[in-house]
Amino acid sequence: MVKRLSYVLGLKCRECGREYEKAPIYVCEYCFGPLEVAYDYQAIRESISRGAIASRPPSIWRYREFLPIDGDPTDGLYSGCTPLVRADRLAEALGMKELYVKDDSVCHPTFSFKDRVVAIALSKAKEFGFDTVGCASTGNLGNAVAAHAAHAGLKGYIFIPSDLEIGKVVGSLIYAPNLVAVEGNYDEVNRLCSEVAYHYNWAFVNINIRPYYAEGSKTYGFEIAEQLGWRYPKHVVVPSASGSLITKIQKGFEELHQVGLMDAPPKTKLYSAQGKGCAPIVTAIKDNTDVIRPVKPVTIAKSLAIGNPADGYYAARVALKSGGYGEEATNEEIIEGIKLLAHTEGIFTETAGGVTMAVAKKLIEQGYIPKDEATVICITGNGLKTHEAVLPNIGQPKEIEPTLASFEKIIMGKQ
Ligand SMILES: *Cc1c(COP(=O)(O)O)cnc(C)c1O
Ligand SMILES: [Zn+2]
Repeated sequence: MVKRLSYVLGLKCRECGREYEKAPIYVCEYCFGPLEVAYDYQAIRESISRGAIASRPPSIWRYREFLPIDGDPTDGLYSGCTPLVRADRLAEALGMKELYVKDDSVCHPTFSFKDRVVAIALSKAKEFGFDTVGCASTGNLGNAVAAHAAHAGLKGYIFIPSDLEIGKVVGSLIYAPNLVAVEGNYDEVNRLCSEVAYHYNWAFVNINIRPYYAEGSKTYGFEIAEQLGWRYPKHVVVPSASGSLITKIQKGFEELHQVGLMDAPPKTKLYSAQGKGCAPIVTAIKDNTDVIRPVKPVTIAKSLAIGNPADGYYAARVALKSGGYGEEATNEEIIEGIKLLAHTEGIFTETAGGVTMAVAKKLIEQGYIPKDEATVICITGNGLKTHEAVLPNIGQPKEIEPTLASFEKIIMGKQ
């Protein structure tokens, strides 16, 4: 049998179900619903096995049947397959029995889960024949687009709010893209990018390539299930910005069952984590509605600072339907969360990870997450990119003279 390279049927409207050919489009012409990639699951079922996946190199592409490209992957060949850390010291601190950290703070090459989505987006952009890629970013996406574009030999235009952390700015500039700092918040940046995408024939990874791009987040869910020994966790706490990641973890879990890699459908409860001051998805979940009321973001978790989230409605629905919930974290709680993870597990996450940590702690304390059920905390970004958030809260090095006497006096407290 000739091995098929693509199992994509086309695009499908999430609202009215209308089908479209593969193209760089993202909204339904009839109902303005978002388009999503549709697959031939029966054909995937016939060609995939746990063994086949296990035999492939450790990257997102080991799940290539579930990813929307036609030829061989050309980007992100080393992205993904990050550690699922058994977090026993953190578990002890929180009174939990079985706790894991899915650690994308060390994702290749730009230290956030955005390497997964950008790898798909750029592979797809090249298949569509684009020579220029762009994005509206809260920081990590810009870093990933800039790095992957450099590697792919594509031109890049990165649009960011002008108040981003220096680590996020340097993390894009080093790859020499066109970095555009817009005076405004992410929602204004995003609106501008929609206009630019309309005027220029560029592949905006999270606008006209979004249906393909978003599929990359499924690999985060696939990896959790595979790394747990082909088992679904009972609970997953997910940071939300546009709301895409939480919906795609859920979709990934569902697909594993749909193609027979898992015997039963997932019963995992999904929880959305946001910063207080930018929590439109969590607010909707708490109000038990899927209507998203946009906000003006005020939080140190800048990578999650999207006031009008594109997938907010679906994110709230996934959390509610799964039996999960949502919580928000204050700036102080975010910093405490970052420190707790560092002190117990030796993992330094950024402010978004601090949000997830703080929210997981609250959900455990409030009893939403029972202490004896397998739980995964999603750590999606690296702490060195937002170090200024914790700098005033971690003390200073103790300075000594280069003598044993000075060491003993100042460090060991001897007279
Ligand atoms: C973008 C981002 C998220 C949220 O992603 P969405 O899919 O937009 O909800 C979470 N964590 C970090 C570190 C991010 O950069
Ligand atoms: Zn439609």
